[in-house]
Amino acid sequence: MDVQAYVHYLSGEENDVLKGLYRQTHLRVPYPEMMSGHGQGRLLAMFSHMIRPDRILEIGTFTGYSAICLAEGLLPRGKLYTIEQNEELTDIAAFFFEKAGLSGKIVQLTGDALVVISELNEKFDIVFIDAAKKRYLDYYHAVFSKVREGGYILIDNILWYGKTANTAVTDATTESLREFNDFVRNDDRVERAVVQNRDGIFILRKK
Ligand code: SAM
Repeated sequence: MDVQAYVHYLSGEENDVLKGLYRQTHLRVPYPEMMSGHGQGRLLAMFSHMIRPDRILEIGTFTGYSAICLAEGLLPRGKLYTIEQNEELTDIAAFFFEKAGLSGKIVQLTGDALVVISELNEKFDIVFIDAAKKRYLDYYHAVFSKVREGGYILIDNILWYGKTANTAVTDATTESLREFNDFVRNDDRVERAVVQNRDGIFILRKK
C-alpha cells in the first residue's frame, strides 16, 4: 500500500454520498484529480469541527467534495458559500449537496470569484482557497477584509507537487504560487502553519 492509500485506510470508511460523488466525478467530469478526495476531505472536515464556523467561504467548488466536508462542522444556523465559474459543474454539485442533506446550508455562487467576492456582504470564520493557482494572491487580497479577526484562511496546493520548494523549477504556475507563498510568509497580519499532506495546505489565522 502506498502512503496515500494508507492515509485513506487510516481515515476510515468514506461515507456513501462522498463515495458516489467521487465516482461520478471520475465518470463524468474532466480533470477529476482536482477533487479533494478522502484523505484531504477528512482533514478539512476535522478543521471545520474544531473551528465550529458560522460562515464558510470556498473559492473553487468543482463538484462539491470539499464543500460537503467543510460543511460538516457548521453551527446549526451556519452557511457555506461556494464559488465556481464553470456553470457545467453546478448541477452535479447541487445534486450531491442535496443527497448530503446540505441544500439549505450550502449557497452556490456562479461566476468569477473576484467579482462574486466583491459583492459578498459577510464576515467569514473559514475561507478555503482552491481555484486558479496563478490568482491566489488576488483571491487573498479580495477576501482578507471579509475574514473575521481570529478567523482562518486555508489554502490548497501550496507545495505544488514539491515544485514550489525547488527554485530550479520556474514555470509560470510554480512561480506564481512561490510568490504567493512568500507574500503570506511575510504577512504580519496572520499566524501560519503548513500541513504537508497530499499537496500542501497553508493554514492561516488572521490576528
Ligand atoms: N475545492 C474542490 C475540491 O476540493 O473538490 C476542487 C476545486 S478545483 C481544484 C478548482 C475549481 O476552481 C475549478 O472547478 C475551476 O473551474 C474553479 N475556478 C478557477 N478559477 C476560478 C475563478 N476565478 N472563479 C471561480 N472559480 C474558479
